[in-house]
Amino acid sequence: MSDVLSLFRQSGALHEGHFKLSSGLHSSGYLQCALVLQHPAHAETLGRALAEKLRDLNPTVVLSPALGGLIIGHEVGRALGVRAIFAERQEKTLTLRRGFSLSADDRVVIIEDVVTTGGSTRETMVVARDAGATVVGAGSIIDRSGGTSSLDVPFRALVALSLPTYDPAACPLCAEGKPITKPGSRG
Ligand SMILES: [Zn+2]
Repeated sequence: MSDVLSLFRQSGALHEGHFKLSSGLHSSGYLQCALVLQHPAHAETLGRALAEKLRDLNPTVVLSPALGGLIIGHEVGRALGVRAIFAERQEKTLTLRRGFSLSADDRVVIIEDVVTTGGSTRETMVVARDAGATVVGAGSIIDRSGGTSSLDVPFRALVALSLPTYDPAACPLCAEGKPITKPGSRG
């Protein structure tokens, strides 16, 4: 789906340039999925496209980590015609709350907006497996992992995006003298 990134740019969810991140690192790009997902029509379009990539895994339920995975998980669930539930942190541990349950018959896909290291995906997979369900796959709108997320289930994303971060002292964009902006501010 080649128009995913143009949808992101249109919504101000993806900026390219030279950014100072809250971590102090510099980056050539800034991504904020919430800005594209704030438009329900875009969320629906992305959810449908992601659902098509996962349909062959025959999932019976979508599980997302809150908050980032919530909206896209809901849209993927809608497109697949299955439940969409979420796990949230309780004393630092990701947990199913609110009466959400999974059974041994459930085939779970984990849905997130962005996968970077795969850490939160793996954590969400543990939630599903601890509940006795089978994790059949994982999906995200954006794959920022550069193919390094290494999950033990099929992982499918709508688009792979490389947004490298740099130590300020070794930032090639600083070396070029490119003006730096803080994400969220108008450059
Ligand atoms: Zn820099």
